[in-house]
Amino acid sequence: MALLQIAEPGQSPKPHQRRLAVGIDLGTTNSLVAALRSGISEPLPDQNGQVILPSAVRYHADRVEVGQSAKDAAATDPLNTIISVKRLMGRGISDVKHLGEQLPYRFIGGESHMPFIETVQGAKSPVEVSADILKVLRQRAEATLGGDLVGAVITVPAYFDDAQRQATKDAAKLAGLTVLRLLNEPTAAAVAYGLDQNAEGVVAIYDLGGGTFDISILRLTGGVFEVMATGGDSALGGDDFDHAIASWIITEAGLSDDLDPSAQRSLMQTACAAKEALTDTDSVDVVHGAWTGVLTRAAFEALIEPMIARSLKACRRAVRDSGIELDEVEAVVMVGGSTRVPRVRAAVAELFGRQPLTEIDPDQVVAIGAAIQADTLAGNKRDGGELLLLDVIPLSLGLETMGGLMEKVIPRNTTIPVARAQEFTTYKDGQSAMMIHVLQGERELISDCRSLARFDLRGIPAMVAGAAKIRVTFQVDADGLLSVSARELASGVESSIQVKPSYGLTDGEIARMLKDSFQYAGDDKVARVLREQQVDAQRLIEAVEGALQADGERLLDAEERMVIDMQVDELRELMKGTDGAAIEQQTKRLSQVTDAFAARRLDSTVKAALAGRNLNEIEE
Ligand code: ADP
Ligand code: MG
Repeated sequence: MALLQIAEPGQSPKPHQRRLAVGIDLGTTNSLVAALRSGISEPLPDQNGQVILPSAVRYHADRVEVGQSAKDAAATDPLNTIISVKRLMGRGISDVKHLGEQLPYRFIGGESHMPFIETVQGAKSPVEVSADILKVLRQRAEATLGGDLVGAVITVPAYFDDAQRQATKDAAKLAGLTVLRLLNEPTAAAVAYGLDQNAEGVVAIYDLGGGTFDISILRLTGGVFEVMATGGDSALGGDDFDHAIASWIITEAGLSDDLDPSAQRSLMQTACAAKEALTDTDSVDVVHGAWTGVLTRAAFEALIEPMIARSLKACRRAVRDSGIELDEVEAVVMVGGSTRVPRVRAAVAELFGRQPLTEIDPDQVVAIGAAIQADTLAGNKRDGGELLLLDVIPLSLGLETMGGLMEKVIPRNTTIPVARAQEFTTYKDGQSAMMIHVLQGERELISDCRSLARFDLRGIPAMVAGAAKIRVTFQVDADGLLSVSARELASGVESSIQVKPSYGLTDGEIARMLKDSFQYAGDDKVARVLREQQVDAQRLIEAVEGALQADGERLLDAEERMVIDMQVDELRELMKGTDGAAIEQQTKRLSQVTDAFAARRLDSTVKAALAGRNLNEIEE
């Protein structure tokens, strides 16, 4: 949705009081942890100086192995070595069945259940496997930084849904980490480059990792980022480049493509090494067993051209989905190890007509951005200000209530995803339907807000005004999709609608609506108070008239009746004007002159209810 800069309250802590917080890129292929040290965000190395931790977990009967050595065992011990677990997070078994070919695990669990993986150490859920990766990163951070962490910002793909985000949070909890926030990966990359400091513009984040490709289009206006579109291909990445080279070796060397697992593994390693070498040289000698060949960069580029073309197609679609033209993209950020491939860079530059940003290591850029945000969230002031970037909703979301007022359910700047519920009630006796009018904006009166959707809740059982309880739930998911549902709690009748609040509003419009809300804040408050008084007055008049109709003849004499009628007329007259105080006063007066009448009505209902029953019955 949007990134918004807000000031973090609190003082800058003294250096020795600095609260330790880290950013974690929990990737499909590789994971990293980064932190701010001496004002610079950098990835933290392990004891051997390695910053990248392959996202591979191998279970032994009595221990857990994580990282490169586990990854190396993927071919020899495939059933106990879990790779690409990120693809399983927050998914049901039926969602991941099609991955069976790529992930040769023994899944257990029913159709609708979380896929558990059977290992020598028992059944492991994807959450537990991810937690094992996170534990290693946490220990590394604590050892490197020398203290307990107050928390971590963990990045997730922009398209992750609530279940996938929740699973990520659960994994963090299991690893003993406090999640300061989940941050979208493209957002983190933009933060790492300090793009939030720019005035405005559209930014594209091109992320080509080991097994996945993501493209995100963000729009920035005055410090506010909006995710305009996301796209990509969940089965496209550097691994495919490796496969292409492996096939080339098989053909060139005249090998059978029916290799045993260990030969397969060494072939893939050879292919991957050749690929990475070609990033820096024009040709490599490829040695596989007794065979030796030469792979030129040009030949490699020809092999991967179709895959690059697929990624560009997804970019064009995402740009089109954003409703903009390619040349409106003002910066392109390269993320993911596979964007090191020179041909990938060139193709992206060609498509967007500009050089992509590559100065920050593409493997590290997401973790670096996450660490910057983690540090700020932990309460440490940054040099040059304490600006903070969040994925937030840009304008408040709410409902129309009586009197044409906007009742905010989710205030602007709330981080997403978010769900909020609020209870409302009926206005009239026996009211059987309710119109739910969903609005966006900061102003008090609905006429100054933007109408997003209307729907009806019908079938509310007959009750007196104010007795029905209608819970209205607003939910904004990670993509900024708003759904609103209304439910009458006693009967369970329900109705809902989906709206896309951010789309269709230009940033200029958002800025104007915000400006108006500040400018008119004073007026709005007066208007709101007046509306509320008018609603109170109207409600009282309706109640009094209903009562007069029912019991006026029976319980009031002519003079009493005349006094009440006069006060009602007086209040009606005042309601036409704008004198809130006068309306309030007259409402009180009408209420006073009808007090005795109300008491008499209550009396007579009680008497009627008690008629025919003796005292003993009543006392019981
Ligand atoms: P993920 O986001 O999926 O965890 P990464 O961003 O870490 O993945 O990217 C991993 C991919 O980057 C692997 O396919 C790896 O081979 C590739 N890669 C890393 N370094 C290079 C390089 N120098 N040249 C080409 N590809 C590289
Ligand atoms: Mg990644």
